[in-house]
Amino acid sequence: MSQTLLAMTKDLIMAQIQAKTLPPDEMHQALQRTYATLMTLKAQEEANGSVAVVTPEIPSKPINWRKSITKHLVTCLECGASFKQLSVRHLKEHGLDGKAYRIKYGIPRTQALAARETTSKRQEIVQRSRPWEKAPTFVKAQKEKQRAKAAVAQRKKTARAQASGHHGR
Ligand SMILES: [Zn+2]
Repeated sequence: MSQTLLAMTKDLIMAQIQAKTLPPDEMHQALQRTYATLMTLKAQEEANGSVAVVTPEIPSKPINWRKSITKHLVTCLECGASFKQLSVRHLKEHGLDGKAYRIKYGIPRTQALAARETTSKRQEIVQRSRPWEKAPTFVKAQKEKQRAKAAVAQRKKTARAQASGHHGR
């Protein structure tokens, strides 16, 4: 009999008795059960040459990236870390960039790699500050539009003036 296993069994049982999870009269049965369990584990350990650990299940289904992007967090499908936003710098740690990451997990190009909350907040900020309005092409187009509008307004005014002139007969 292995002295270590017996010692371990005894310690486990004593701990249970002290914690009052095990009535003393059930001690013998518990001792046997625990010892048997430890023996099985030891046999497995020897058979495998290493401690029997539960190997994580390899997902057979393709990863559903949609689950990785929630309202508050985006989970890195490479390492499982969670962020408000999956940064280029973090992806670089996996040898990926946004494009490669999206391709690898079948994420659409238009999908932001950020928590939905963050995405909508950013869209809100963009909508509010309207950065494109500062773009030269936009400013130019806007001026032309105003000029065209002014011309139309002028034409309307003239037309109205003519019309009212005719009304006055
Ligand atoms: Zn990662």
